[in-house]
Amino acid sequence: MSNRRNFLKNSLIGTVAAPTIFTAASASAASSIKKKKLKNWVWLHPDGKDTTDELKLRYQSYKSAGITGLLFGGLSEKHYTEAKLAGLEAHCWNWTMNKGDKNLMAAHPDWYAVSREGKSCVEVAPYVDYYRWLCPSKPEVQEYLKEEAERILSNDWVDGIHLDYIRYCDVILPKNLWSQYKIEQRMELPQYDFCYCNTCREKYKAISGKDPLVMDYPDASLSWRLYRYESINNVVNQIAVVAKQQQKKITAAVFPTPEVARRIVRQDWTNWNLDAVFPMTYNKFYQEDVKWIGDAVKEGVHFLHDQIPLYAGLYLPDFDNDYQQVAEAIHVAINNKARGVSLFGHISEEVLKTLKEAIRTA
Ligand SMILES: [Zn+2]
Repeated sequence: MSNRRNFLKNSLIGTVAAPTIFTAASASAASSIKKKKLKNWVWLHPDGKDTTDELKLRYQSYKSAGITGLLFGGLSEKHYTEAKLAGLEAHCWNWTMNKGDKNLMAAHPDWYAVSREGKSCVEVAPYVDYYRWLCPSKPEVQEYLKEEAERILSNDWVDGIHLDYIRYCDVILPKNLWSQYKIEQRMELPQYDFCYCNTCREKYKAISGKDPLVMDYPDASLSWRLYRYESINNVVNQIAVVAKQQQKKITAAVFPTPEVARRIVRQDWTNWNLDAVFPMTYNKFYQEDVKWIGDAVKEGVHFLHDQIPLYAGLYLPDFDNDYQQVAEAIHVAINNKARGVSLFGHISEEVLKTLKEAIRTA
C-alpha cells in the first residue's frame, strides 16, 4: 500500500475511533444546519377559481410540509399574496425564449430564430406547435425580454423571476421522446439546429471570419457552439441586472446537468448570474433510474462551486404514485448537496407527507 493510501486509511480509522459522544453531537449539529438551509418549491399555475379561504388552507399545508416557495406560471395578485401570508416565497415562472404569443409573432416575425434549413420558427414550429423560439442575438429581443422582466418584477407582491425555456430549441431531444416523435436523433439535424438568422451569422462571422451556414460540419465547430452558449448567457445576465436593480431574485429551470444542457439545448447555466438554479432532474426523460438524480445533482453542484444553491426538479407524474421512490429521489438529491427539491405535478396529501418525512430522514 502506498504512503498516501496508508495515510487515508489511518485518517479514516482516526475518524471512526473518535469519542462517540463527540461524533454524535457533530453529526446532529451538521444535520440540523443542513435541514435549516433546505428550501423546497412547487411549480404550479394559479387558478382564478381558487378562493382565498382555499388558498390559505392549501398554502399552510404546503408550508407545514416543508415547502418554502412557489413558482407561479402567470401573475395573480391573490395567489402571490396568499402565498406570502402563509410564509412562502412567490416567484413568477416565465417562459423566456420560447414565445408563442400570436401578437408578438405577427408584429415581429424577424425576432424569431431561423433553423439551419433556413426556416423561421414563425413559419415552422420544430417538433410541436408551441415551439416558437426567439433569437437571443438580436438587441431588440434582449430589450423586449428585459422590459418584460421589469414589468413582472415591478409588482411588489412578486419576489422574483424564474426563467424557463431559457435556451435554444432542443437540437437533440431527451431519449425518452425519440419514440414519441418518431425521430432517431443520432446527430444534430438541420431542422432542429438554431439560429442561422442574418444577425447570428453576421455576429459570428465578425468574431470568427466564418459563416456558420456554409460550414461543412457546424455541429463540430467549437467556436460556433460557444457563440450560442454565450448568446443565451448574455440574455440571462442582462435580465439578472434588471432583477438586481429591482432587488428581486432571479432563478431558472434548466436541463439536468451542465453537460446535457450544453449538448442538447446550448444552455451553459453554470455561467449565469442567478440566485439559484433548478435543474429538471427528470430521470425517466433520459431513461435513467432514481439514483441518477443524485449523479445529476452532484455534477451540477460540482460545477457551481457552491456559489448558488441548486434545487433538484422532480417530475411527479413519472413516479406513478410510488411515494417510496419519491422519498428516495428527495434523499439522493439532498445527500448529493441539493439544497432542496422543486416539485412538478399534482401536490396531493401523500406528496406532502412524503416530502415532510423525506426531509426529516435525509
Ligand atoms: Zn439568430
